Amino acid sequence: MQKIDNYNFTGKRAIVRVDFNVPLNESFEITDDTRIRAAIPTLKKVLDKGGSLIIMSHLGRPKGPEDKFSLKHIIPAIEQKLGKSIKFANDCMGQEAIELSATLQPGEVLLLENLRFYAQEEGKPRGLAKDADEATKKEAKEKIKESQKEFVKQLASYADCYINDAFGTAHRAHASTALIAKYFPNDKMFGYVMEGEIEAIDKVLKTPSKPVTAIIGGAKVSSKISIIEKLFDVTDNMIIGGGMVFTFIKAQGGQIGASLCEDDQMELALSILEKAKEKGVKLYYSGDVVIADKFSNDANTQVVADNKIPDGWMGMDAAPSTVDEWEKVLRDSKTVLWNGPVGVFEMANFAKGTNRIAQILAEITDKGVFTLVGGGDSVAAVTQMGFADRVSYVSTGGGAMLEYLEGKELPGIAAIRE
Ligand code: AMP
Repeated sequence: MQKIDNYNFTGKRAIVRVDFNVPLNESFEITDDTRIRAAIPTLKKVLDKGGSLIIMSHLGRPKGPEDKFSLKHIIPAIEQKLGKSIKFANDCMGQEAIELSATLQPGEVLLLENLRFYAQEEGKPRGLAKDADEATKKEAKEKIKESQKEFVKQLASYADCYINDAFGTAHRAHASTALIAKYFPNDKMFGYVMEGEIEAIDKVLKTPSKPVTAIIGGAKVSSKISIIEKLFDVTDNMIIGGGMVFTFIKAQGGQIGASLCEDDQMELALSILEKAKEKGVKLYYSGDVVIADKFSNDANTQVVADNKIPDGWMGMDAAPSTVDEWEKVLRDSKTVLWNGPVGVFEMANFAKGTNRIAQILAEITDKGVFTLVGGGDSVAAVTQMGFADRVSYVSTGGGAMLEYLEGKELPGIAAIRE
């Protein structure tokens, strides 16, 4: 497999799939440029080694060409970070893109317009009536798959080599994230973002220093079940926090008041407890909780055992005594994975447990523990607390990271490795 560090980019045009799907405000200003900053080392590497760049990405979920989803809005940010002016093709297909890419000189950069202006990028038909019959749907699907081949072929024709650095879309088998790779059998590679993500997750899944502890929080058991089960294979301890705890507590006969609960997942919760026992994983899911009399930051609060919550009250955060227990486990660990907040951290009064986890992770990282934070809300928490630079790795790819942790083969990764 080719590696970006070993590849000879001299005189080559590299087409790079990045994730520049950044949030924009109403004036089309970028409100968080993390994803652009993350891709810069890969882009600079190609330029520094004598190559030229064709950058491609999606932005938002357009249904076709739409000005508000144009990548032209982010040209100034890219130029500022690369320290040079860049060219822009107003359409990722068509004559302009062909000519601009063909005449690209070493050191030059071309940005292609939003790939998702074409349905072929995702390979899914658009504009089908909701009540379309099966035959119509099938025909539309076949048609788009057929035209997708031309789309991929043209994208590939712009370049001599392909780099995938968009971890956030690695779990999608799209034209630019997976299908294009086959045109570059000996000239395809991961960018640094992808390399970093894969290495960090493999450090937990494949070659962890023991003991390994996972902290799984968030709202719903149903959305975390596959990761929990997969992680039983590699973890020694699992701390379960957040709203999903109450499904476990209720399943065991506890009183959870008005706390979040998925009644249809209670059986599953019990089977998880059983499985943990079988696999020898120590589970920490119960303790004192901070409860509130309404779902609001200015609610009245008290601390009670999580199986004795009065009617009308709801569990909102892990109590300090519970986090004290977890802290001991975390300080004895060598590898820690954190996904999901352990309370309603969007409300300051119920963010204390989550914030303490962020703080503890920062401290143990200083002592040599490998700490990986992934999944939208725990990343937000660790960033909000100013600890993003103090943990070992913060994963940028929410859905992709979860699928990788679940043990699924991601199309964007497989396409490079094949
Ligand atoms: P997830 O996307 O599954 O990681 O869930 C994150 C969400 O879980 C956040 O919006 C939190 O506010 C929410 N959450 C965490 N703890 C609780 C709780 N005890 N009750 C209700 N929601 C919670």
